[in-house]
This record gives sequence, C-alpha cells and structure tokens, in this order.
Amino acid sequence: MKNEPTKLWIDCKCGAHDHSIQFTLWKNEPLEDPEIYVSMIATGNTGFWTRVKDALRYVFKGGSLTFNEAILDENSVEELHKLVTIHKLLSRMRKTKRANLTALGVLK
Ligand SMILES: [Zn+2]
Repeated sequence: MKNEPTKLWIDCKCGAHDHSIQFTLWKNEPLEDPEIYVSMIATGNTGFWTRVKDALRYVFKGGSLTFNEAILDENSVEELHKLVTIHKLLSRMRKTKRANLTALGVLK
C-alpha cells in the first residue's frame, strides 16, 4: 500500500522485550514532510496500581499495550543521524583498536 508506514523495531542489547524501541516512518503525501515516530512500551515510570490496571485491561480487554511515543522533527532526525554516525565510527575505530592490541598481544 502507498501510505503504509515503514517500521523498524530495535531490540535492547539486554534482551528485555519491554526495552524495545519502534521507529515508524510515515512517508506522507509528496508535498508533506515525512515523519518518524519513536515508540516504547510505557512501563516503569508509573505507579504500581497504574501498572496493575494497565495489565488487567490488557489481559481482559485485549488490544495493545500502552505506548509512549514522540514524533521527531527535522532537526531531531539530523541529530539522530549524527548520533548513529558517531556511534558507527567509534565502534569501527574501537573494533580496529582491539584487533590491533590483540595482534600485538596486549589484549587476549
Ligand atoms: Zn534493556
């Protein structure tokens, strides 16, 4: 479908499913700005009874779990891109550094 969003789920390195983040790209109409929504399952920062109520509602009424989400503006997308680029460069540099130190026998 033309206006179907493109979704990307990122799992947390720790493996906890409630730490997963969903990025949803809405391409929108040709003259509109595209939008990226960032969503997480809303847990942790609410009180005990709110979490119990949410859990019971989910168990007995079904539907989806509660999500918190933010819509990224153009600057935020640029900042996210920079952050990912820096992470990628640092990861590559450190991987090379570890490989070199391992080759020299400094790291095992
Ligand atoms: Zn985690």
